[in-house]
Amino acid sequence: MTDFKATKAMFELPQGIVYLDGNSLGPLPKAVDARLHQTARQEWGQMLITGWNKAGWMGLPTGLGDRIGRLIGAETGSVVVGDTLSIKVYQAVASALELNPNRKVVLSDNGNFPSDLYMADGLLRSLGAEYELRVVAPEEVAENITEEVAVMMLTEVDYRTGRMHDMKALTELAHANGVVTVWDLAHSAGAIPVDLAGCNADFAVGCTYKYLNGGPGAPAFIYVAPRLSDRVRPALSGWLGHEAPFAFDLDYRPGSGIERMRVGTPPVLQMTALSAAMDVWDMAEMADVRAKSIELTELFIAKVEATCPGLTLASPRDPARRGSQVSFHFAEGYAAMQALIARGVIGDFRAPDIMRFGFTPLYVDESDVEQAAEILADIITNNLWDQPEYKIRQRVT
Ligand SMILES: *Cc1c(COP(=O)(O)O)cnc(C)c1O
Repeated sequence: MTDFKATKAMFELPQGIVYLDGNSLGPLPKAVDARLHQTARQEWGQMLITGWNKAGWMGLPTGLGDRIGRLIGAETGSVVVGDTLSIKVYQAVASALELNPNRKVVLSDNGNFPSDLYMADGLLRSLGAEYELRVVAPEEVAENITEEVAVMMLTEVDYRTGRMHDMKALTELAHANGVVTVWDLAHSAGAIPVDLAGCNADFAVGCTYKYLNGGPGAPAFIYVAPRLSDRVRPALSGWLGHEAPFAFDLDYRPGSGIERMRVGTPPVLQMTALSAAMDVWDMAEMADVRAKSIELTELFIAKVEATCPGLTLASPRDPARRGSQVSFHFAEGYAAMQALIARGVIGDFRAPDIMRFGFTPLYVDESDVEQAAEILADIITNNLWDQPEYKIRQRVT
């Protein structure tokens, strides 16, 4: 059993704050500070360039990939860390398309995160006018999986509402129609159990600064099924994905397996922070995290619905069909969220009217949920959000 008291003690959480936004940026694991100092002083400072070998910096992308892989049901050696998620989406879709050279359609849905759609659109425009990005409603994805489609690109958990796609069923349907799959796990990794190998997924990508707590700007990860990874051509053919980077050949030859999805020099300090964050994850079992997350989200929904009739649930009511977040529609959601943050309860707002709350059992418990629901009820019942200072839109919402 995961000891959630022990994991909570491993985070630096400011006094008096209930943090319900770990789905957007995880908090600071206490060990990060010392680890960064150690890497800066003992490794970078003392070893200088020899740190790449002596301190094992060059192995960080695959080492971290395997640790993340355990949480998402990936085979050992099938995940590598690097770049940002937008880049990894591009990389996965480009390689996936080449596995289906006679088809020109990428299928996605309008619940996807815009950056994924923008990146796919940008890629398809470079490939030529005969390519098409087909965006349908989430509930219409299945009926749009046809033999015209080359690649199905979906985010498993909707970033606004937490609605989940059925990864296993959709992947099966895709394969039955000759479609290659790309799953974005941005709101899945560390939030819900994922079984990439069991679902027979082809490609997956995700980020590490949300539920995995790698810190602002922490790098992304990419998964390629072992049955494909020696066949795919990396469209972003950087030197560190080369078979022999230090041979400095003028021609590109892809490295073996997942190594070929590396692009350039890894961000060592950021990966050091991520590695300290993964130490907390090593103490957790995803089944426990999921069970606790369902308890917390059910409790929050019950409390909010009992006290705030003006808020309507935007997330699926069935916990099996939602990720680890709960969202409510409220016309004055932006101001209400600002008022809530001013009272120490941090969630976020997604246009046009969604108040979003992430539940992360590693450091959020029942008493946090109760406190958050009480403060929210006070703000809504007494219209405390109705103040000019809560209505000024900031750059990041
Ligand atoms: C958070 C998120 C992103 C962000 O991409 P970055 O390149 O890391 O900024 C992309 N896609 C999805 C689905 C996300 O949830």
